[in-house]
Amino acid sequence: MKRAVFLDRDGTLIEEAGYLDRLERLAFFPYSVDAVRALNRGGFAVVVITNQAGIARGIVSEAFVSEAHRYIATRIEAGGARIDGFYYCPHYREGTVAEYVRACDCRKPEPGMLRRAATDLDLDLARSFVVGDRWHDIAAGRAVGARGVLVRTGIGRTEEGAPHPGSAADAVADTLIDAAAWILQQA
Ligand SMILES: [Mg+2]
Ligand SMILES: [Zn+2]
Repeated sequence: MKRAVFLDRDGTLIEEAGYLDRLERLAFFPYSVDAVRALNRGGFAVVVITNQAGIARGIVSEAFVSEAHRYIATRIEAGGARIDGFYYCPHYREGTVAEYVRACDCRKPEPGMLRRAATDLDLDLARSFVVGDRWHDIAAGRAVGARGVLVRTGIGRTEEGAPHPGSAADAVADTLIDAAAWILQQA
């Protein structure tokens, strides 16, 4: 079984863009590829886990989310790095597109995406990490025994100032590259 680092997408791997609905609005951080490559070399599977309530709200299509993930994967691979899997939750209880309007076990803070990835990729969740800019990212990791790093990009700075009961991070890092360095030190 492999250890993994689960990366939140918006505000962590790429810039927070509200509801990302066009590839022209998709912006990598300058260190995104380097961070993924460092985790690859450290022997971690790297898996993106992202809540995409915009699908249930009718703002973005599943086809666009898949297109965005192919684009991210291509850019990461062009830099000599690799993302092992992309998982998204299209659901939202207050959504408007009937097929996606429901409570589910995959919308973070629920850990369904991590569990699915663990089955698909043979991952050891208890030896894995989550990196995200929201407390719900950290909570999803905690729910399966993974350690969590809050980053100060995206809305992370605001989150840091408003701790959620029971979702303390194991570390707080300025950016994903600092989070990767901290994780590699623990390994
Ligand atoms: Mg985020
Ligand atoms: Zn879901």
